[in-house]
Amino acid sequence: MALSGIQIYKLLPQTNCKDCGFPTCLAFAMKLAAKQAELSACPHVSDEAQTQLAASARPPVRLVTLKANGNEVKAGNETVLFRHEKTFYHKPGLFARVRDDASDIGTTIAAADAYAVNYVGMDLTLDGFAVESTVDAAAFEAAIGAVRSASQRPLILISRDPAVMEAGLKALDGEAPLIYGADADNWQAMAGLAKQYGAALAVIADSLDGLAELAEQIAKTGVENLVLHPATESLSKGLALCTQIRRLALKKNFQPLGYPILAFPGHEDAGIESVRATQAITKYAGFIVLDHYAPEYVYPLLVLRENIYTDPQKPIQVQPGVYEINDPKPESPVMVTTNFSITYFSVANEVEGSGLPAWLLVTDAEGMSVLTAWAAGKFDAERIAKSVKQFELPDKVSKKVIVLPGHVAVLSGELEEELPDWEVRVGPREAVDIPSFMKQAL
Ligand code: SF4
Repeated sequence: MALSGIQIYKLLPQTNCKDCGFPTCLAFAMKLAAKQAELSACPHVSDEAQTQLAASARPPVRLVTLKANGNEVKAGNETVLFRHEKTFYHKPGLFARVRDDASDIGTTIAAADAYAVNYVGMDLTLDGFAVESTVDAAAFEAAIGAVRSASQRPLILISRDPAVMEAGLKALDGEAPLIYGADADNWQAMAGLAKQYGAALAVIADSLDGLAELAEQIAKTGVENLVLHPATESLSKGLALCTQIRRLALKKNFQPLGYPILAFPGHEDAGIESVRATQAITKYAGFIVLDHYAPEYVYPLLVLRENIYTDPQKPIQVQPGVYEINDPKPESPVMVTTNFSITYFSVANEVEGSGLPAWLLVTDAEGMSVLTAWAAGKFDAERIAKSVKQFELPDKVSKKVIVLPGHVAVLSGELEEELPDWEVRVGPREAVDIPSFMKQAL
């Protein structure tokens, strides 16, 4: 039975030594109770307390980390079935697959490695590469070398042959890749390799029973970092299996299925692959291997993933302040918006796209969009006037024209009172209409 934070605290040394990275034993206990910390982070727990705490402290979905050359991809430690219940913590790693019989692996991987798209201020990229053996050990090793010369991101190695896999692992010095994988026939040899080389191990079966049985057997050999691959081509069966795995891990604390999920959405039809990858992102993959990874396929998946894994309690924000767009002059107008990231980028892009210079005043609305912030009392005339003074706009501008978002036209009277020497204008409701407004009305 899961222990409460206070029950866990009573079993901890209560010295507040901070060695676990938390300021107090109580803070650590609360994190353990929320399944967001590992008991092993405290080096001072007595053996007796450890036994009592171990079952309670194990996260329902184990955190598995792939590492390479300072780069990491983490999956697991999730605590809820639905994002709106709290949040999802570790977005699934997106890996691009290359086979060892492919020509010009280095060029392909270098292009995929370099791909980055800026989305609301964040650079989104692929997370790693999966190298699949289709020839022999020598070809596998050569392919891994070619990938490594083009990218330093974490790897997934794919071969069911332990001898081939060992050749691949030897080519990676000091890394923690994921090896794929262990099935009913080869699991002992694969578990041995995972242990010897410090790799995470994918467990392959086409049923819940098969996965649980195999994972349990492998865990008994001391391999802790497992990843589950429910092997099916069917979208509906895949959805059912992944949902059941997550549900059993979270609701029943069923440890044999308490691991991240690996998905292979690959399909010769890139459209179908996109649908399968979309399902994997939303339900409930931790690592996803793509066969189509040209920018037009990867971009929507990266954005979807970002949206699903954004903490709904903490909107993405930009720094409040005055942003200079198109080299504004003292006579340029001041456009006002909030510091919700998507709002800011929508407005900033449109102002920039107009080609006209402007000062963009971003007020601190606790990361909410214009209407939400206004309704919550976080975006009003007083706050806007305060920002005008705080960011020293009167020293920057001479014409003193300030433009409110159209959705909060109701604030114009109050803002005139707050800023008596400014001309208050009401802009359009939608960002897309900003360029024509600026050209015609300013
Ligand atoms: S390391 Fe252990 S004893 Fe020290 S503060 Fe953390 S929980 Fe308490």
